[in-house]
Amino acid sequence: MKPVVAKFCGSSLADAGQFRKVKEIVNADPGRRYIVVSAPGKRFPEDVKVTDMLAACYRKAAAGEDFGEELARISGRFQEIIRPLGLHFPLEEEMAVLESRLLAGAEEDYVLSRGEYLNAKICAAFLGFTFVDPEWCVCFDEEGKLDLKHTLRTFGAALKPLEQAVIAGFYGADMEGRIYTLSRGGSDVTGSLAAAAVSADLYENWTDVSGLLAADPRIVPSPKTVARMSYRELRTLSYMGASVLHTDAVFPVSEAGIPINIRNTNRPEDPGTMIVNQLAEDDSEAPIVGVAGRSGMSVIQVEKLNVSDESGFTALILDILKKRQLPFEQCLTGIDTVSVVIRSDLLSPCLKELLAEISKTVHPDHLEVKENLSMLAVIGEQGAESSDANVRVLAALAKEGIPISTMNQGAGKLNLLVGVPGEKYGEAVRAVYEAIENLGS
Ligand code: ASP
Repeated sequence: MKPVVAKFCGSSLADAGQFRKVKEIVNADPGRRYIVVSAPGKRFPEDVKVTDMLAACYRKAAAGEDFGEELARISGRFQEIIRPLGLHFPLEEEMAVLESRLLAGAEEDYVLSRGEYLNAKICAAFLGFTFVDPEWCVCFDEEGKLDLKHTLRTFGAALKPLEQAVIAGFYGADMEGRIYTLSRGGSDVTGSLAAAAVSADLYENWTDVSGLLAADPRIVPSPKTVARMSYRELRTLSYMGASVLHTDAVFPVSEAGIPINIRNTNRPEDPGTMIVNQLAEDDSEAPIVGVAGRSGMSVIQVEKLNVSDESGFTALILDILKKRQLPFEQCLTGIDTVSVVIRSDLLSPCLKELLAEISKTVHPDHLEVKENLSMLAVIGEQGAESSDANVRVLAALAKEGIPISTMNQGAGKLNLLVGVPGEKYGEAVRAVYEAIENLGS
């Protein structure tokens, strides 16, 4: 039987009660052999994550200030986990090592990594699993970049002989043993690497929500949880602002064709969201997986008579952006017109010079900038082909009297992007969500 890799987020392991829930989940399925853990996260909204506590401790130490209080607070958080679980864990010794490393000028990444290191050791002791330190198997190169190929080989070799293991997330080391952390939330990436390295059957990502929602719950009251979606849909949803999984976590498992299941530690009975490489024909029950969006966009519109008969006009405009290293979100071309959508915060500081350069280079008949737009994305590989979805989206916006500034679907399946005035964004998301909510069911 192929193993399951289960990664638990910080809030899933924030206190002793959460540890008990994790143990029940792990014990409920013998396939869950490799457990990847985050540092203790927030227990309540105003709480501080252990990684942030370690960052504060590091800052004090680096400034040559007394960090005793910060260190004691971190130790207290772990003590609150260990004691109620009745574990004999050498916390004092571990904290003494950290203290002496801090006094000796430890590097920031080493200090930040200690939350995962300690939590994984504690979790391993609690579950009776072997502790695996990613220092030995998540490999970084001499520039501090993750070495994917090397990691998959070394990680696989370290894990496969072990029947059951708990692995600390979020960090690894280079050949010299220098610790590097991944970006914040990076334990998701460690979990994905572990799953790919052992050719897991499934990568479970246990968090505090029952899966990905079909819309932002701050805008749409009680949106549906997406039951099943593809990696590409997830990528689009994440790009457009939905945040459940670290974006880099998709790559290792999607390459290996391993599905991800987002689950809720506090509601293990919920099936969560299953993310798969390829949607099957019968997945078309819910052809649209969700509506997401990004605000703060601007559109530069360039018009020139007869340019559609020439080639290279669009390239000239994009070249200007490239030279300035200004990324664009979308490039829409029509007859004798090119529109480029750019994030307003990136565009504003150079708008004047950019327009002057476009004028000088392509001599347009008309050059206009529209600001304060929101881009709404209606996402669904199966739905993008059906004109029914598009008709519903446009009709819903028209019914609410919301003007459409841009529209883009391209030739590929996947998503429809609609630009609407920024102040109408919430209304637009609600209207579109209602219109597509029951599509296909
Ligand atoms: N503990 C780290 C953070 O707070 C990494 C993680 O939780 O994945 O970002």
